[in-house]
Amino acid sequence: MSPSRVILPDLACAIDSDVKRIPDFKLSESTMSDHWLRTSAPKEMSFEEQREWMVRNQLEAWGIADARVLDAMRRVPRELFVPDAERSAAYYDGALPIDEGQTISQPFVVAYMTEKLRLDRHERVLEIGTGSGYQTAVLSLLAAEVYTVERIARLSRQAQETLARFGAGNVHFHVGDGSLGWPKHGPYDAILVTCAAPAVPQPLVRQLAVGGRMIVPVGPRGYQDLVLVCKTDREVTQERLSPVAFVPLIGEHGW
Ligand code: SAM
Repeated sequence: MSPSRVILPDLACAIDSDVKRIPDFKLSESTMSDHWLRTSAPKEMSFEEQREWMVRNQLEAWGIADARVLDAMRRVPRELFVPDAERSAAYYDGALPIDEGQTISQPFVVAYMTEKLRLDRHERVLEIGTGSGYQTAVLSLLAAEVYTVERIARLSRQAQETLARFGAGNVHFHVGDGSLGWPKHGPYDAILVTCAAPAVPQPLVRQLAVGGRMIVPVGPRGYQDLVLVCKTDREVTQERLSPVAFVPLIGEHGW
C-alpha cells in the first residue's frame, strides 16, 4: 500500500471528528476536506459512472492491482448497501454510518483486505462482522462459499435481504459471537474480520485451514493495525500491514 494512503476509520457516527482524534492521522482539517473532495466520486455522475470512478481513483490509483478484486468492486453497487439517507454519498471515499451505530467500510479497505486473501473462486471464506453485507457481496464474487457471522440480528436480516437483491446465492448467514468463529463449517481457506480485536482471536486461528490466510484488525479501541495471519503445516505467522480504525469486535475473544 502507498504509505500516504489515507485509511478513513470505520468508527460509528461523527466520522469526521473521529478521523481528527486519531493521533497518527497527522492531517489538518483542511487537508482532510481536500482529500475527500479529490477522492470522492463527483455526484453529478450516475452511480455506475461513480463506481467506475471509484475503481480508478480510489483503488487502482492507490495500489490495488488484482484484476479480480477490481472487477468485483466494479460489480457491487455500493448504493444498495448504504441507508437511504446516505445513498447520494455511496461513492464517498470513506466509511459511512449504517443502522445500530455500525459502519459500511471504506471501499479501499474492502478491496485491500480482500486482495490480501488472494482468492480464486475455490475457497470457503469466513467473514466476521456482516454489517451492511457490502464486503460479503465482494467476497461472494471471488470465493466458492461465504460464511458470514454478525452479532446484531437486525443487521444480519437487512444484509440477507440486500444480498438476495444483489443475487448472491453462495452466502450463509449466522447471528452470534463471531469471535468464536463458526466451527460447524470450518476449516476455512480464508477468514476476514471486519471489526477490531485486542489480539488475534485464537478460535479463528484454529478454524483456519492449513495454507489459509486471515486478515484482522488488531489493536486498542479506535486505532489498530491490519494483521495478516498465514497458517502452514509447521507454523502460524503474523504480519502487520497498515494502520486502520474499525468498530470493536464485541465478544468472548474480543472486547
Ligand atoms: N464490512 C462491513 C460492511 O461493509 O458493511 C462492515 C462491518 S462493520 C465495520 C463491523 C461489524 O462487526 C458490525 O456490524 C458489528 O456489529 C459486527 N461485530 C462486532 N462484534 C462482532 C462479533 N463478536 N461477532 C460478529 N459480528 C460482530
